[in-house]
Amino acid sequence: RPWDGRRKVRTTCPYCGTGCNFDLEVVRRPVAGEPEREEVIGVASAADAPVNGRHLCVKGRFGLSFIHHPERLRRPLVKKEGRFVETSWEEALSFVAERFRAILSEWGGDAFGVLASAKVTNEENYLINRFARGVLGTNNIDHCARLCHASTVAGLAAAFGSGAMTNPIADIAKSDFLLVIGSNTTESHPVLAQKLLQAIGRGTPCVVIDPRRTELAAAATEHLAIRPGGDLALLNAMAHVIIAEGLQDDRFIEERTEGFEEFKAAVADCSPEWAAPLTGIAPAVIRETARRYARAERASIFYTMGITQKRTGTHNVMAIANLALLTGHIGKEGSGVNPLRGQNNVQGACDMGALPNVFPGYQPVGDAAVRAKFAAAWGLDAVELPAKPGLTVGEMLEAARAGELKAMLIVGENPVLSDPDSARVVEALRRLDFLVAVDIFLSETAQLADVVLPACSFAEKEGTFTNTERRVQRVRQAIEPVGQSRPDWRIVADLAAALGRPFDVNDPAAVMAEIARLTPAYGGISHDRLDREGGLCWPCPASDHPGTPRLHEERFTRGKGRFHAVHYLPPAEAPDETYPLVLSTGRRLFHYHTGTMSRRTELAAIYPEEHLEMHPDDAAHLGLTDGDWVRLSTRRGAISIPVRLTEGIMAGTVFTSFHFSEAAVNVLTNSAVDPVAKIPELKVCACRVEIV
Ligand code: SF4
Repeated sequence: RPWDGRRKVRTTCPYCGTGCNFDLEVVRRPVAGEPEREEVIGVASAADAPVNGRHLCVKGRFGLSFIHHPERLRRPLVKKEGRFVETSWEEALSFVAERFRAILSEWGGDAFGVLASAKVTNEENYLINRFARGVLGTNNIDHCARLCHASTVAGLAAAFGSGAMTNPIADIAKSDFLLVIGSNTTESHPVLAQKLLQAIGRGTPCVVIDPRRTELAAAATEHLAIRPGGDLALLNAMAHVIIAEGLQDDRFIEERTEGFEEFKAAVADCSPEWAAPLTGIAPAVIRETARRYARAERASIFYTMGITQKRTGTHNVMAIANLALLTGHIGKEGSGVNPLRGQNNVQGACDMGALPNVFPGYQPVGDAAVRAKFAAAWGLDAVELPAKPGLTVGEMLEAARAGELKAMLIVGENPVLSDPDSARVVEALRRLDFLVAVDIFLSETAQLADVVLPACSFAEKEGTFTNTERRVQRVRQAIEPVGQSRPDWRIVADLAAALGRPFDVNDPAAVMAEIARLTPAYGGISHDRLDREGGLCWPCPASDHPGTPRLHEERFTRGKGRFHAVHYLPPAEAPDETYPLVLSTGRRLFHYHTGTMSRRTELAAIYPEEHLEMHPDDAAHLGLTDGDWVRLSTRRGAISIPVRLTEGIMAGTVFTSFHFSEAAVNVLTNSAVDPVAKIPELKVCACRVEIV
């Protein structure tokens, strides 16, 4: 205990997938009208934090006061005659169990949809997966990875056998060439971006491909301002140049890959001249970028949702993998393909089977041996676990609109603000017979629920998060639960018990032990070991295995790396006379996701409202000046928002974030999906701007 009475508790940041560690500073003090209790009063960085050292971004350092915010949910809520009424846990759980039992007996398990969460721990996601499949008997389980990296999971798994970041963050310092495409890294993964900026500062060439001149683009060696939706054309044209100029790594292709000839034929017509009008990038620049990437000794690609949130998201990811296979820039120190996962535990939620087609560890639900293994562990007959993959979140919402899905359990997600075409989302949730939300605040989604169960924040529970580089790290309890809130793992276990199917594990360390027994990649991971060693990158198959910071070094997870012939397709919605501009959406430094946490902190005062970025030429055409309020509309709806003029955005496009309910941009976005990964095309739709 330091001299001033503060107690420090080492834990992992609840915001982005960088996975920074810090110490929560806790003091015991009297609270008006309540017994004395411990509170989190600050954050201290820690020199020995494995990913970030002493660095923290503004969210990690100043964005944690939501923990004690007065609007935290403190007791269960049940809706009666349209209004929420506080109730006891016993009453709430027995009411939920009664309604779930009735729906189960009338409609069966597939009448349920479950949303797990990229915000809760691995242990919690694992139990939510066990609850959906083993208690409700449905594979209808998904989470917000469907909106961010579902196309990465599909595309990289097909190419390499694993859908995760291939290299550790520390490898940034070991690369000779950095290619960043579709990633606003400085705002979305700020501490990781610092490592890119440091590399640029040391002279490492870095090309940023983005429609906007982001902070990283401005600092980079070169910024290629690409037309929204032109990614696949550019990536194929780069491959074309590499092959046409003989810059490919023939030995690597021969020894470690398959499918090259078909891929070569597919890009034969993709010359830079063909790609230039689709991308807005001059042929000479495409050629030079391809040459620099191919000739580098060690080259790394980084990408996020500019690549994945497209109707060609899976093919975009495959096209990135093709470049790495073509040049051998994979499976080596400083050479790899790095999808930067968005939320703190989106990698872990995927790993833990919060997906409709796989159990934890990406073990397919269609595999009878896998079902038998999980059934035995959960005390079930194998026939009780469904073999058919379930619905994605978008499919669940459509099924709810059609009256086919009757009930949902939504844990720590806010689809009303995060999912595309939100009027349809609201309509779908309203059509359900029964909606249960588990959250720390009464989010826009929780407001529509029949029952809201109050959950603990990250500071009030034990567990683990898995960051973007596959590093499993501890989350530690710093304070007692706020009010009567309970950790999500306990809420799910309580629901299972109320339904007469109690779990046989009752603390997060025991849950991790069960995960390790059933999930080969986590086989050597335990809380004890993480406490001793600080963090472990999966695959870590045995208790004496050191973990695997770098994938595919000797062989690809699937054996050989697989080229894919993928073809350019324009965005689902093109600008026209009625909707002449392109709308793109993204994130801001000071807020996170739907703002549920960050807008209840000091950050709200620093960045209090949202605006629409617009090029001055477009503004002049419409007679707009900086700060004017406009009506921004698409075929799906309209919002009001002030404009901010900037030369950093391409003329013909506008941009805003989805953090603010007052300017809920997902009212406008397109729900057209990638046919493989079912990820919506959130990054591009046609819009119109009018003076209010
Ligand atoms: Fe948290 Fe991400 Fe900021 Fe690190 S970079 S402090 S993990 S939000």
